[in-house]
Amino acid sequence: MSDAASQSTPLYVTGLSREAMTQLVLSWGEKPYRAQQLWSWLYVRLANSFEAMSDLPKGFRQRLQETLPPWLPTIREYHRSADGTEKWLLQLEDGQVVETVHIPDEERGTLCISTQAGCALACSFCHTGRQGFARNLTCHEIVGQVVLARSAVEAAGRKVTNVVMMGMGEPLYNCEAVFAAGRILMDANGLAFGSRKLTLSTAGVIPRLPEVARELGCNLAISLHSVRDEVRNVLVPLNRKYGIAGLRKAALAYPLKANRRIFWEYVLLKGVNDSARDARELIGFLHGIPSKVNLIPFNPWPGSDYQQPEMETALHFQEILRQAGQVAILRDSRGGDIAAACGQLRGALLGAKQRRDFNLQEGFQDIVQETVQVE
Ligand code: SF4
Repeated sequence: MSDAASQSTPLYVTGLSREAMTQLVLSWGEKPYRAQQLWSWLYVRLANSFEAMSDLPKGFRQRLQETLPPWLPTIREYHRSADGTEKWLLQLEDGQVVETVHIPDEERGTLCISTQAGCALACSFCHTGRQGFARNLTCHEIVGQVVLARSAVEAAGRKVTNVVMMGMGEPLYNCEAVFAAGRILMDANGLAFGSRKLTLSTAGVIPRLPEVARELGCNLAISLHSVRDEVRNVLVPLNRKYGIAGLRKAALAYPLKANRRIFWEYVLLKGVNDSARDARELIGFLHGIPSKVNLIPFNPWPGSDYQQPEMETALHFQEILRQAGQVAILRDSRGGDIAAACGQLRGALLGAKQRRDFNLQEGFQDIVQETVQVE
């Protein structure tokens, strides 16, 4: 039996690599092709129970059912925006909640998944950053978000073409689970997100960048937001550790595949990082790095310290980059009516729990509310 299969902690079927699944199946005296059948039911047909896997022998299904726990998270909330953006607040077995967002476009559908519950990096413009860190997600919890959301999206006649690890958390502080999940997402005979269809987004954990190329070879996105240390130190406090110069050096050394670019995420914040001077400094920073810049006008959330810039300012910023030959895309702020900014739904839930705890302490037990209505 594999290491994974002999662990005393519960074994989740979506936490198994192909090799570990084959070993598990063999250790039960089944033929190796049963592992391929199981893989296919999970990742091609997106089955949500062992019972539904009708061409597997009944005894095998029964053993799976008795041995392995359910693999999908529970939907705590679901919201659909007027612009088609969908958001799930998913509850994990220990009660932690994470967010998964589907952003449909004309040609594609992008799924934004979480890799941690909460985040320790405390970026000042990010709602998740205000909530602190709870724990790393496991491989099966990362894969489970994709299986659940893809199944729901496809059942509604839409599609998921891309996955971005850009939701809650810093993926490169959870490398083992993130890389294991990435390999499952990219498996050509399963979910089959090719290396151009999967993007790992980091705030810039510089020592781990080469591992992204080595372990997954998928797209790399870096949250930049400013190329001035005094500004980025506030927006992305991790910058105090590596600095802009360190980030540029790491990007120049990153082993990009042919015809690939580093994606730079740049949230435009009114009066903070959206001036012509900021744009020109950004051009200097990018010199010599094959790049694509995603400009995202800030999506305000209640209590945030920042504002969205005027559209005219955002367009001017983009134009300066384009004039300098940079690929710069101005993104829509999507799903504003369903609190789609990263961490907002979870924040509302935590806020309600904190209010509930306070109220219990004060003796107002009768106003406990378990279900949160997001306004
Ligand atoms: S922007 Fe990303 S890295 Fe920064 S606090 Fe939010 S989730 Fe964490």
